[in-house]
Amino acid sequence: MRYDAVILGFGEAGKTLAGALAKQGKKVVLVERSRGMYGGTCINVGCIPSKSLVTSAAEAKLHADAPFEEKAARYAEANAEKRRVTGLLRGKNYDKLNDLENVTVMDGFGRFLSGHEVEVLLTDGGSTVLEADRIFINTGSEPVIPRIEGLEGNPHVYFSETLMDEEKLPRDLVMIGAGYIGMEFASMYANFGSNVTVLQDGDVFLPREDRDVAEAIHGLLEKQGVKILENAKTSRLDGGDVIFEKDGVQQTLHADAVLVATGRKAATEGLQLDKAGVAVTPRGAVETDALLRTTAPDIWALGDVNGGPQFTFVSLDDYRIVMSQLNSGSRSRDDRQNVPYSVFMDTPLGRVGITEAEAEKKGIPVRILKLPTAAVPKAQVLRHTGGFLKAVVHAETGKILGASLLCPEAYELINTIKLAMDEDLDYTVLRDRIYTHPTMTEAFNDLFAL
Ligand SMILES: Cc1cc2nc3c(=O)[nH]c(=O)nc-3n(C[C@H](O)[C@H](O)[C@H](O)COP(=O)(O)OP(=O)(O)OC[C@H]3O[C@@H](n4cnc5c(N)ncnc54)[C@H](O)[C@@H]3O)c2cc1C
Repeated sequence: MRYDAVILGFGEAGKTLAGALAKQGKKVVLVERSRGMYGGTCINVGCIPSKSLVTSAAEAKLHADAPFEEKAARYAEANAEKRRVTGLLRGKNYDKLNDLENVTVMDGFGRFLSGHEVEVLLTDGGSTVLEADRIFINTGSEPVIPRIEGLEGNPHVYFSETLMDEEKLPRDLVMIGAGYIGMEFASMYANFGSNVTVLQDGDVFLPREDRDVAEAIHGLLEKQGVKILENAKTSRLDGGDVIFEKDGVQQTLHADAVLVATGRKAATEGLQLDKAGVAVTPRGAVETDALLRTTAPDIWALGDVNGGPQFTFVSLDDYRIVMSQLNSGSRSRDDRQNVPYSVFMDTPLGRVGITEAEAEKKGIPVRILKLPTAAVPKAQVLRHTGGFLKAVVHAETGKILGASLLCPEAYELINTIKLAMDEDLDYTVLRDRIYTHPTMTEAFNDLFAL
């Protein structure tokens, strides 16, 4: 039987596309290599489990003086809650598609045989070949594994996914890498009660952020007890001993767990893309144009695998672009507008648009508005006053060009700023609105009045 569509991977884009195509009467097969991954990375090993743990960690920090055993017990409970939530969502995701008459969820690893043929190595053994008019690649991303002696097969070594699955709270956690996911984990495990040390290979902390923002994050993490060692290059691991060089001096740290957080790369291994004429970029992602078409006709790539920003909401937007195209619409990656992001640390960061440093580099005349979090009444109510809210506003047009919000609920607030930017609103619109009280949003009255 020839299908209208075969989708490789049960990620955010793939599952949404499968449902939408099926509702249009198309026959769809969705191939997923792991029964534990229905719904994709976000639901099973990414956003949802990490935010479930972040929530529990915020509660756990109220018991910072408790003995370690009590903290460990609290962590085990948090882990059980995380498993409950992910299990629930995984089941719902599966049922939502599997209950559709036109969708077949197939358990197996898909790989190309040609531009219209996919071979599925079935999870329960054997294989089958699917023919399709259109094929959509949504295989996501996987951790980058750095070449460090003693890392492979070391039981002390974890990646984000495996660490979150470990039911024992590590007393000493050493992290290799200081990226965004890493900082979220550093903050979360510090709140649970681990001694966290971050080894950063380089001397610029969070290089994409303005220096005042990065320094404030650094300070807030240190206040939580996280040690961040800059210019610390890990040379090898010996069991739980992490041997690194800092400022030319070799040092050793002992860890119960070593979290490797050195980024994620497109998951293309084993796909046999060459058999379909699908090219990859120099960084190994599937090459796509602004409409997410690959170099082969009738094959698209959506989500992390196409090398775009690695966020669930970007994957969802990739789905919108492809669906619009199939329905003769005009969406493309070029009209995506501002892509915000959030880092769910104890004091969260919400970011959108350009930074002050970028504005300076581009020679754009800007006004910088900066309000301490402590000046917001709701922050006092929440007893969470660290950080600040910073906006970059065009000095002549009054348009908001960017914002860095380092304050409670920044991950919610940033969406309002994104909306104002997308709609090309003047900063005075946010300044002069009425907002409910007491909320963090009303900080915009003061931030934009500066
Ligand atoms: C710890 C962590 C925290 C994160 N937190 C956030 C957050 O707070 N907010 C946010 O927006 N993003 C977050 N992300 C990123 C987000 O999870 C990803 O960007 C998003 O899930 C990518 O979705 P996707 O559609 O590309 O595919 P995925 O959801 O990755 O799905 C790909 C699927 O394809 C399957 N697969 C792979 N190869 C094959 C094959 N050959 N055949 C069949 N199946 C295959 C995989 O098993 C997987 O289920 C986080 C990521 C991590 C790791």
